[in-house]
Amino acid sequence: MPIQRGGPVEGTPAEGAVFLTALTAGPIARVDIARETGLSSAAVTRVAKLLIDEGYLEYAPDQPAANDETRMGRPSSPLRVHARQTGSFGIIVRRDELIGMVCDLAGAPRVSERRPLADTTVAAAVAAIAAFYRELVERAEAAGFVVAPHDLGLSLSGDIDHDTGYVRYSPFLGWRDVDLGAAVSVAVGAPVVVENDVKALTVAEQWFGLGRGITNFAVVTIGTGIGCALVVDGGLVRGAHSVAGEIGHLPLGDPAVQCHCGAHGCVEAEASTKALLDSCRAVTGRDDLTIESAVELARSGDDGVRAIFARAGRLIGLALASVANLLGPERVIVAGEGVSSFDLFETAIREAFAEQAFGAAHQVPIHVRDLPFEEWARGAAAVAIQELVFPSRQRVAADVRRRPGVRRV
Ligand SMILES: [Zn+2]
Repeated sequence: MPIQRGGPVEGTPAEGAVFLTALTAGPIARVDIARETGLSSAAVTRVAKLLIDEGYLEYAPDQPAANDETRMGRPSSPLRVHARQTGSFGIIVRRDELIGMVCDLAGAPRVSERRPLADTTVAAAVAAIAAFYRELVERAEAAGFVVAPHDLGLSLSGDIDHDTGYVRYSPFLGWRDVDLGAAVSVAVGAPVVVENDVKALTVAEQWFGLGRGITNFAVVTIGTGIGCALVVDGGLVRGAHSVAGEIGHLPLGDPAVQCHCGAHGCVEAEASTKALLDSCRAVTGRDDLTIESAVELARSGDDGVRAIFARAGRLIGLALASVANLLGPERVIVAGEGVSSFDLFETAIREAFAEQAFGAAHQVPIHVRDLPFEEWARGAAAVAIQELVFPSRQRVAADVRRRPGVRRV
């Protein structure tokens, strides 16, 4: 990822690397930061001093050293991110709800709230996001946080251009070509970074979850859509148009079935919650069926409904195998609201995966994570922290200038 000036202090690669190491591995001694980052000890010491002076890092209470000789020879207190100083804000926009999270600068959740989103027209949604953000700011200030002029992280499903904050297509909100980052930035008077919701969740998993310390992994989400985000060689893969990882649109299904994206045979066209429900209604002849009652029917042994879930599981398993064959992740993390009925998919997913994964790829462990949507909102806040550390995109509003550093407490 190209690193430009504008993050902590100067936003240099060394500053970003030291901050990120303290964030994901702290409290950590400078000597260990040097080993992790490949920077010289002198460089780490210089950068750490700058970041401490700016209030981004602090010394952790001294840990007992392994032995007295080490302690005397290397009087270095471990460093960690200065958690209390700055609130980081994340909001995930769902079809009927906004979920907001205020994290400290170390990414720990401090405040979370939910608000219904009754009207998903763009203007109404922007107004609702701005009102919700102001409420979160008040809550954060009441909790003792400094509200720094760094980005609000926004996440939503769909084809999102992270670099410009532009929403090209979000099927579940019915949005096409929406300049969301700029609109929200003007409404809230702060910079805004916009990210695909699964990619944002993956940043949180990489820093704080099952991806911590792992350089290659995939997050696959099942539910309203079939999403995926990839971390390769330690970096989130966005691709040239920010759409890398869209396994929901791999053509592994029935070519006669058209997807909402316009293509045919997409995994999502048969395995999303809506697709499952449509098929279950067709096979039972019950138009009043909900996804919850379909799950109950399957669990009570209805063969027709069970077969529909198994078919979806097979397609998801084939998609996971495609990811494993292409990128060789160390692990695959499955999340999303669909994991609440994972028992109905699991056998088919694992069988299809074992059948199609090539060679050693079939050994890739598949972990199932039942993460609440607050954790997704935390991902949006993590993207805001990421933007602070590794500013990598154009400004989304010319009139909102990033200020160098954050205010001191
Ligand atoms: Zn599709």
